Amino acid sequence: MSEVVEKKSSKKLKKAEYVPQKSSDVKELQKHLQLFGYLNPEDAAFGVEENRPPQPEESALESLKTSFIEPGKMDKATVEALKKYQEFHGLDVTGKLDRKTLDELDQKRCGMPDLGEFSTHGNKWSTTSLTYGFDNYTTDNGLTPAKIHEAIAQAFAMWAAETPLSFRRVNNSASADIRIKFVSGAHGDGSAFDGKGGVLAHAYYPPPNSGALAGDAHFDGAESWTINIPTGSGKVDLVTVAAHEFGHSLGLRHSNVNGSLMFPTYAGPMRYLHADDIAGIRTIYGGYSIENAPWIHGTSIQVEYPERLERITRAGFYTYLYGKPNTTNWFHFALPTPVIKDQKRLKVVCAILRFRTFSTKAMVDHVHIYDGYSKIAAHNNLSLSGDNWFKKFGVAHKPYVYWGLGISIGVSFSNGTLNERRMDFVSAGCDLIN
Ligand SMILES: [Zn+2]
Ligand SMILES: [Zn+2]
Repeated sequence: MSEVVEKKSSKKLKKAEYVPQKSSDVKELQKHLQLFGYLNPEDAAFGVEENRPPQPEESALESLKTSFIEPGKMDKATVEALKKYQEFHGLDVTGKLDRKTLDELDQKRCGMPDLGEFSTHGNKWSTTSLTYGFDNYTTDNGLTPAKIHEAIAQAFAMWAAETPLSFRRVNNSASADIRIKFVSGAHGDGSAFDGKGGVLAHAYYPPPNSGALAGDAHFDGAESWTINIPTGSGKVDLVTVAAHEFGHSLGLRHSNVNGSLMFPTYAGPMRYLHADDIAGIRTIYGGYSIENAPWIHGTSIQVEYPERLERITRAGFYTYLYGKPNTTNWFHFALPTPVIKDQKRLKVVCAILRFRTFSTKAMVDHVHIYDGYSKIAAHNNLSLSGDNWFKKFGVAHKPYVYWGLGISIGVSFSNGTLNERRMDFVSAGCDLIN
């Protein structure tokens, strides 16, 4: 079923559907299980050296010899570890190197281990105002520092919308809580990257572990990074991987919930949090306390290009919009926003939309948030369809509000029946804090 995915990374394990497998296949399996925390979970997950990302591959095989595992042999410990891997990744627990397991082992993934005692790491930041900075940038696929800034802010905004945390970019990366860089191969932290495919990135859990590296996120420079959707073959979505890595930077481990952002393998772009990710991050930091939450009905929506609509109906508090085939459009909400309460200026956490589309032929692609004429957040390439009855769009740095919020929604309609090109807006709002 996942025949399209990354044939090229199958260099590591030969496809085989029978057991026992060749000793070289078993060695590769053992290396993988060791790297990602299945053979010696206490070593890999908790780390002999203050929770580093896993060791480079050569030393993984070396360290097998010091455990009770014989490299190349499908022994009891290997079978048990493989079963744990299959369980975590939602595969049939066979204890054998079957086809589905081999496919999963070949997927692109995060470099952090899967197994630990808790789904949260245990460490957390002691401040809610975090800073981040860039040691360097990638120029892959036409990326510029400005584009990367917007993409990384989008990734942080996903976590900001659910927690008391805010994330502000600083120019001097050496002074930042979370340092971001693109590096290839060995890069001085004892956790070398592996070239194109395989491991895409890794990150360090919050202080006090790993000293100055705490919170930092490293991206494999050998990958082809992009922020465009569709990504194109062999390219990786920077926003998705960054948001996943920042989950680790904030103290989350991998989740075994397939479809969550914190699942260890990369399954393509995912620019929003799953309920499991929200539950996880809230166990560590809790929510935020709302000072004010203004809302406006869907009937007040403004359409930028009315001639591109086939029909528009206002009923009750709803607006039903039917786009002409193969058009894009922008819809706008002006939100009457209180900016001062109890003589104090309020800050914005997120915009919230309540909408639905009737098929994937009607999509919400972009949500931009403005304070007056200043754009304060951009959520791009979202591909949202279906029921979205309470969708939050965070503002990473949670700035003070001065002039009132505007929410601009970029939509697209493709070829389909009239009803498939329908989109309903019920209301729009935002959360404000002190
Ligand atoms: Zn990860
Ligand atoms: Zn690193």
